[in-house]
Amino acid sequence: TQFTDLGLAEPLLRALTDEGYTTPTPIQAQAIPGVAAGRDLLGVAQTGTGKTAAFALPLLHRLHEMGGRPKRKSCRVLVLSPTRELASQIRDSFRAYGRHLSLTSAVVFGGVPINRQIRTLQNGVDVLVATPGRLLDLTGQRALDLTGVEMFVLDEADQMLDMGFIQPIRQVVAQLPKRRQNLFFSATMPGDIAKLAGELLTDPLRVAV
Ligand code: AMP
Repeated sequence: TQFTDLGLAEPLLRALTDEGYTTPTPIQAQAIPGVAAGRDLLGVAQTGTGKTAAFALPLLHRLHEMGGRPKRKSCRVLVLSPTRELASQIRDSFRAYGRHLSLTSAVVFGGVPINRQIRTLQNGVDVLVATPGRLLDLTGQRALDLTGVEMFVLDEADQMLDMGFIQPIRQVVAQLPKRRQNLFFSATMPGDIAKLAGELLTDPLRVAV
């Protein structure tokens, strides 16, 4: 399989050439067509498998195909990540793969002043990557409204659970619109993670690598 076989829009293929990627990894080959078609995804994959591009590329493809703009104080794609380092890396990936698209992205996490993040969200962003606690601070302060989220990614779900983020995640999910696309990634699938996945996902494409 080549990236050109996966149905991705031309500006994304150009970005992949810029990045020096020639061949999709297994999770990318299996996930990209279904996610680009709007399906939910359950991905059992560790870091290093290329999972970030496996969700970032088809979500950018959908934003590009659908057109439109984010509303004020809102985002269209929401990615939840357990740590600020991972959140920053994911945001960097969206920026790199989306460099030939005119989309906006931002990352928000705790431990830094909130005011700049509030200003960044004022006009809305296409893609927001966040850690759960700071995201809830922002929605609690009415700096961010999640009712416009069209696509939701929960990354490293098992690590989220280990870090005690299960309640914050549920509080975030409760603020999302019912009609949305959901992508769920975890390196392992113990019972409590499988239960959460079952609650979030509708007829998901299942990919394990
Ligand atoms: P991830 O599993 O998302 O953390 O990605 C692991 C690393 O692989 C990152 O540094 C990516 O830039 C790189 N990568 C992802 N997909 C590809 C690909 N198809 N070809 C070459 N490198 C890739």
